[in-house]
Amino acid sequence: MTPTEPASATVDTAAPPVPAPTPAATPRTEVSSLTLEGLTRFLTEQLGERAFRAGQLYRWIHQRGATSFDEMTDLSKALREKLKAHAEIVPLVKDAEQRSVDGTIKYRWKTRDGRYIESVYMPSEDRKTLCVSTQVGCAMACTFCMTGTLGLKRNLTPGEIVAQVHAVNREVRKNEGLETLRPLSNLVFMGMGEPLHNFENLKTSLAILQSQDGPNFSHRHITVSTVGLVPMIERFGQETDVKLAISLNASTDEQRSKTMPVNRKWNIAALLDACRKFPLRQGRRITFEYVLLRDFNDSDEDAARLIQLLDGIPAKVNLIPYNENPGLGFQTTMDERAERFRELLCAGHVAAFIRQNRGRDIAGACGQLANRGGESPSETPQSPELP
Ligand code: SF4
Repeated sequence: MTPTEPASATVDTAAPPVPAPTPAATPRTEVSSLTLEGLTRFLTEQLGERAFRAGQLYRWIHQRGATSFDEMTDLSKALREKLKAHAEIVPLVKDAEQRSVDGTIKYRWKTRDGRYIESVYMPSEDRKTLCVSTQVGCAMACTFCMTGTLGLKRNLTPGEIVAQVHAVNREVRKNEGLETLRPLSNLVFMGMGEPLHNFENLKTSLAILQSQDGPNFSHRHITVSTVGLVPMIERFGQETDVKLAISLNASTDEQRSKTMPVNRKWNIAALLDACRKFPLRQGRRITFEYVLLRDFNDSDEDAARLIQLLDGIPAKVNLIPYNENPGLGFQTTMDERAERFRELLCAGHVAAFIRQNRGRDIAGACGQLANRGGESPSETPQSPELP
């Protein structure tokens, strides 16, 4: 079946910028969004405190996951009161959780301005991975994705991005009876939103998540996935050191433009050119995600074209059997076809894996995050200007 493309599936490059979150009633500084350097400046310059206090506060928020100043018992009462008056730790309130038979847990969080976002916890034998959201909704309007039907509501702040990690660390400690402060081992930025469309906040959140006084994640254990905002891929390579994944999902521009409107602005050639120039660390490869859509992008010819496209790029391909979403008009590839596709890629010297689907029964799998019962779909996606 060839999927049809909704009339609203465009990335509007001329639309106005995303509105900022609703300001708080009092102009308090969101300290959970600051790096240690920024927090030190805030405490010394704005509150007249000594610099070492910043380290204490930072470790409370980003190592122990404190959500209130009252928990910070080694800070004087006077300082805690001062912080309450001038600062805030951005709250993410757990609104719902759904547990899959495979151990995956999907969390829905409510933001302070009443928005909903989701994160998905995926435990396995050797790792505990969290899929993190970077925006409320998404402007990219990929036609196979439920999040794409929401349109973009707003960017998440760095504090809201890292708060998902802190909150799930707390949940895992509680659920699994663990004492370690940071049970999560891996992070993938593949939840709601296009991470490179919220680049500055993504970058700040990565700096916090990788900091020694914070959760101290290794660059080897963080992957950021993009649909292919070409100018931002270069910046991402220059300004961060974590792993890159590209959501490719097609072997021709015709296919890709039908399902991923971003391809009309930066086509496959431009995207792969950016990948060829990407500054890869030694031994590292770019992951290409390829959602298999039955009779749309899963033929032998597609596999042959994909081999040619990836020629010269240190790459591995994750083949993702599609999670069917009601009303979006696509069907999943049969298992035998997926296996044949993988074998053809491997025969063409492209490392390819069929990715295990996680959380399918709770709509927590790839392309299924859409806050059922939370945000409502947009008729016209709100699309800010692309870089
Ligand atoms: S696949 Fe990713 S980039 Fe595309 S609409 Fe969904 S969330 Fe946005």
